[in-house]
Amino acid sequence: MSSALARPLLVLDLDETLWHGQLAAGGATFALRPFLGEFLRQVAEDCDLAVWTAASEDWMQAGLATLYTQTGFDLAAQAVFLWDRSRCSPRRLEDGGSGWHKPARKFRAAWIRARYPRGRILVLDDLAANYVTGYGHLVKVSAWTGQPEDRELLLLSRYLASIAQEPDLQAIEKRGWASRMRPES
Ligand SMILES: [Mg+2]
Repeated sequence: MSSALARPLLVLDLDETLWHGQLAAGGATFALRPFLGEFLRQVAEDCDLAVWTAASEDWMQAGLATLYTQTGFDLAAQAVFLWDRSRCSPRRLEDGGSGWHKPARKFRAAWIRARYPRGRILVLDDLAANYVTGYGHLVKVSAWTGQPEDRELLLLSRYLASIAQEPDLQAIEKRGWASRMRPES
């Protein structure tokens, strides 16, 4: 079987998307979102994976180590890239403070473009504002802060499998994906 279609690149946010981390006396601790290991294994069948977080590199690496220990999934080794806060741009917040955003122009780097034309790049994030310049890539997920009954990642792996073969992932309407994937009742 051969196809001219490049595998999608799925760029993952970390905090409140895949896990919820907290600073404790002994260092950072990370609670993993329900079904995270299954989710990553499932989506890795259809998509290449990468990480883009507004957190520090230390925080990212600590969380990735917890992920590996608890699920056996080595995202740090599998990721096409691991981008941290140093790849983000400052953003002025409505309350006058400052935060970060993830400028989609960074996907135009030649080495990325060679493998992943922009219609093959999806980003997962719980903060849409992180991608003010890249809404077309965004699959917005609900923010997770520890709720044990959360099923977002189960729905999401089914949704991503359903669109992975679409030639232009940027062009399709991804808002409201979760309500379309939920059973009717
Ligand atoms: Mg986040």
